[in-house]
Amino acid sequence: MLPRAIAFSSRQALLNNFRVLSRKAGVPLLLPIKANAYGHGLEQIAHFAMQQPVIWGLAVSSPREALRALKGTANLDQRKPILIFTPPDPSEMQSLVGLGVHISLTSPHELGELPEQAKVHLKIDTGMNRLGVKVTDAVQVGRELAKRGMLAGIYSHFSSADDPDISHSQKQYQIFSDILLTLHKEIEESQAQVHFSNTAGVLNYGRWLSQLRPAVTLARPGLSSYGYGLPDQEAPLSPVMTLKARITSVRTVPAGETVGYSRLWTAPKDTKVAVIGIGYADGLPRNTSGKASVMLHNTSCPILGFICMDQCVIDVSEVKAEVQTGDWATVWGRSPLAPDAMQLAKWAGVATYEMLTKVGERVDRQMED
Ligand SMILES: *Cc1c(COP(=O)(O)O)cnc(C)c1O
Repeated sequence: MLPRAIAFSSRQALLNNFRVLSRKAGVPLLLPIKANAYGHGLEQIAHFAMQQPVIWGLAVSSPREALRALKGTANLDQRKPILIFTPPDPSEMQSLVGLGVHISLTSPHELGELPEQAKVHLKIDTGMNRLGVKVTDAVQVGRELAKRGMLAGIYSHFSSADDPDISHSQKQYQIFSDILLTLHKEIEESQAQVHFSNTAGVLNYGRWLSQLRPAVTLARPGLSSYGYGLPDQEAPLSPVMTLKARITSVRTVPAGETVGYSRLWTAPKDTKVAVIGIGYADGLPRNTSGKASVMLHNTSCPILGFICMDQCVIDVSEVKAEVQTGDWATVWGRSPLAPDAMQLAKWAGVATYEMLTKVGERVDRQMED
């Protein structure tokens, strides 16, 4: 059956972003593909990214996502590492290690749960206070992992690399830097990966991070890999996703009649409208009703009335071309007249992260050039 809505991911845009970010960071990428690859389709993004030389590996947030990444890349000759950011349950550990998945170690207690052959990235809490081994335990745990031949990486995470006040990031940097220096022998002998930056870290602290010793070897930009950087910063990133919805019905609403629930919109004149097959259950936020518009045949078409669960009504009266069922409207994406996901996020009053990750499961995911 035909999809009502499709989220296309542009290979060219992905590749452009990977290259821009890798150049900026000066190292290959450990690409976050958590949350369905920020809504873009985990399996297909994993499959594409794993074939790119600038990608060292992929990062997910849970064991289930790791399995999806493995599935998406099953037919590739060359497999690259997959790291899980959060600690697995002890009952999951053996299978994950058997599958070659890299594990994050976030507390000394987890040392006892590691099977032989485990490849472990030591996560250090330098001030995010979410996950990670405490600073006071980090060196001891790092030495233990190295002794067991399990130290595959060491990393930390910025809590506020997008904050103009860099004092907290400086503290995090200093703590991480001291631990790296103390563990330099273990890191070098284990050839462990060193990584610290998310999107904001790559875009704001590229220079600074390149001074860490032992040197940073990877960067983990998520949002920017999908084409969205910091709102106030010029970076030659290309939005990856174009979200389209199909017209399922066309009608004329007579002057004075209303459209949709709660009769939010009244036709000032006889108005040609179309129904498109996307609603708030598919990720088009209901509270953008009255603000958002979509693009159809190179014309911007306002959404009329309240966005419904599965569909919404658009004003096509300005469209010059004939409007037919089966035509595709662009809800956001790579098209000059369409809004991008950041614009939608502004209308909805949410972060771009939320906009992308909330694209629903009914929306088809496809790659395009
Ligand atoms: C999600 C995540 C990232 C990526 O963050 P962005 O802000 O999307 O670049 C990097 N590292 C960790 C540990 C994460 O959880």
